[in-house]
Amino acid sequence: MSAVYERVALIGLGLIAGSMSLAIRRAGLAGEVVGTARSPETRAVAAEIGLCDRIVDTATEAVAGADLVVLAVPVGAMGAVAAEIGPHLAPGATVTDVGSVKKSVIEAVGPHIPEGVHFVPGHPLAGTEHSGPRSGFAELFDNRWCLLVPVPGTEPEAVARLRALWEGIGAHVEEMDAEHHDLVLAVTSHAPHLIAYTMVGVADDLRRVTDSEVIKYSAAGFRDFTRIAASDPTMWRDVFLTNKEATLEILGRFTEELFSLQRAIRTGDGEQLFDYFTRTRAIRRGIIEAGQDTDAPDFGRGHGKT
Ligand code: NAP
Repeated sequence: MSAVYERVALIGLGLIAGSMSLAIRRAGLAGEVVGTARSPETRAVAAEIGLCDRIVDTATEAVAGADLVVLAVPVGAMGAVAAEIGPHLAPGATVTDVGSVKKSVIEAVGPHIPEGVHFVPGHPLAGTEHSGPRSGFAELFDNRWCLLVPVPGTEPEAVARLRALWEGIGAHVEEMDAEHHDLVLAVTSHAPHLIAYTMVGVADDLRRVTDSEVIKYSAAGFRDFTRIAASDPTMWRDVFLTNKEATLEILGRFTEELFSLQRAIRTGDGEQLFDYFTRTRAIRRGIIEAGQDTDAPDFGRGHGKT
């Protein structure tokens, strides 16, 4: 495959940037992939395992001469990173991000993008509960969605080029506006993570069930919750702080439904429970038919995909 960008700069070298680097280099989509991370430890690991073509010490060094800059840090850190690199961006370059929330990232990053530089926010819907420079793998984006959220007035060529990169590393691409993105993600990812965190917290609080019993007898349901609840605390703190409105909206609806099911259990309304579970089972079938999961007993999660 021919290169889509001359030089890609990755700011942050965790699961997502690491996977992007491996996938971009595997497919030959960039002349060079340059990476940097905040801590010397992460940069040293990235250099040791050959995560990028070149590791540099600072974000400003990384973006010098880059025609694509990818912000791959927690959502709450995007604004500060953008302020640091803004004056050093090459004219005509594209800046994108991979943050899980879009409205707040656009508000935080947008003002730091100079005239003549394109800003095309993005979000790959792929991940695992692992983080850090050793957690990346080139197949992470295969057959997964990547949502692009271009701000009004963005040149279509800049969007098309970024789309070509994501498609080149295996993803399907769709465009969406920021508000809709944040609501969809609140339903499909953010609220479910909060529920998983809560369920694992409840089990931990239940002193009658010792830790070893929780672990020993954990069947698929609880095991899946623990996997999700092992996700990076910084990343998820930032997601809830920045996608507040949409998450609260979905949690409000969730609480109403939970109360309704609680009442059905108390009153012995088996019909309501059966009908509800029949409806939700159909959603699971839809996800499998759409190729976004498998019906293997472990949900096909060899890599622990979320
Ligand atoms: P990760 O593995 O934890 O890596 C985060 C990177 O950001 C690390 O290199 C870290 O540097 C750096 N960083 C952390 N705090 C920083 C700060 N205050 N200033 C500058 N750099 C900072 O994270 P990830 O899973 O790749 O997530 C990166 C982004 O992708 C997040 O915005 C997240 O919302 C989004 N995302 C994640 C997933 C997922 O499932 N994980 C899926 C889709 C999108 P050090 O290592 O030096 O501390």
